[in-house]
Amino acid sequence: MKGLLLIKYGEIALKGKNRPKFQRVLERNLRQALRGVGPFHLRSLQGRLVVEVGAEIGPEGLERMVQAASRVFGLVGVARASQAPLDIEAIADQAVAIATEAVGAGARTFKVEVKRPNKGFPLQSPEIATTIGYRVLQAVPGLTVDVHEPELRIGIEIREDGAYLYGRETPGPGGLPLGTSGRAVALISGGIDSPVAIWMAMKRGLVTVPLHFWSYPFTGERAKQKVVDLCEVLRSWGLGPRLLVCPFTEIQTAIRDRCPEELGVTIMRRMMLRVATRVAGDEAALAIVTGESLGQVASQTLESLATIEAVTDLPVLRPLIGLDKEEIIGRARSIGTYDLSILPYEDCCTLFVPAHPRIKPTCEEAEAAETALDMEGLLVRAVEGIERVDGRQSTTARLAPAEPVVPDPGRTLQ
Ligand code: ATP
Ligand code: MG
Repeated sequence: MKGLLLIKYGEIALKGKNRPKFQRVLERNLRQALRGVGPFHLRSLQGRLVVEVGAEIGPEGLERMVQAASRVFGLVGVARASQAPLDIEAIADQAVAIATEAVGAGARTFKVEVKRPNKGFPLQSPEIATTIGYRVLQAVPGLTVDVHEPELRIGIEIREDGAYLYGRETPGPGGLPLGTSGRAVALISGGIDSPVAIWMAMKRGLVTVPLHFWSYPFTGERAKQKVVDLCEVLRSWGLGPRLLVCPFTEIQTAIRDRCPEELGVTIMRRMMLRVATRVAGDEAALAIVTGESLGQVASQTLESLATIEAVTDLPVLRPLIGLDKEEIIGRARSIGTYDLSILPYEDCCTLFVPAHPRIKPTCEEAEAAETALDMEGLLVRAVEGIERVDGRQSTTARLAPAEPVVPDPGRTLQ
């Protein structure tokens, strides 16, 4: 029997005149997500999308389709569905089949939920729900009705081309289709926060180009590979194939050698944003995304954030601004980045960390300190040195064997 997925989308249903555009992008993204899994046919119903797959894909293939679809931003739910003719007996038979399977999987309570966009169907929604509920109660021992918190919801949608029925529904991420909100450059470290920030920016429809600052040999191949792997996880959510890796060693050592220690982190962040701003120009990106939160560390006081972002004219988007660390960790787990993020490889931010960073820096003191740097030369060389890593070639299996620890190059190395 062929397989059917009934796909629900959320916010884009509200977008008025822009709706066709949003829907086109959503369909394109869904096709892209499913393409690798197997052949399928996508069609659109009023307020829903339907994916049809051939029987040869099997239950496991269908499950992979569900998993892939449930990572497409803009979708709120993916249900394995079946289709019945517009006949109450045929509908009841399929509802009973769904209930029987659910009882086998442990369900004890149920509810029937009916939508009837096809107003030509002779019975109205409440009558359909009652009739089907009664039939299920009769045919499936061990099930009782619970209209408030049922373990099984039997969804029935009466449409022009037949009735669609479904039991289990996998939630989608919601948000807006990727590509409907423009482009941004996203600063990605190997930490927990920035991959979550990128995911949240993507959820609002932003196409993000990830940019990583890499201080080789102070941070080794494994630290870079970790970021490559994080991007691969984000790719399962629709991130594009490219990762930009910017050589940052020269900038970091110049800051260490020429600037006051307590302003080191502030100036390092300002340099990151300067590079990101130039990259954004090349990438036609209109914003910069970071994983900063408020008050998490010394570089994330309001004074620090203001001093850091003063170097760019672009909006700096910080999707994590109001989240606690615990909330961020919870999201990282559900996104799938957490286990990679906690791998213990050095990031450039953990190098040269001053014992007493300035908690409330000002632009004036940062600018004064930066006069000791060959600003233009540093920036030009950093941007020219950017490596474009194509994600399609990366796999976790390519991780190199453990590297020797690079000795402390000078000041405090945490
Ligand atoms: P994360 O877990 O994302 O590293 P964090 O809480 O450790 O965040 P910081 O280390 O202060 O915070 O970094 C703040 C933000 O600066 C990061 O979320 C990221 O957006 C950016 N950032 C830090 N290090 C790098 C890096 N090596 N390359 C690119 N961006 C970076
Ligand atoms: Mg960090």
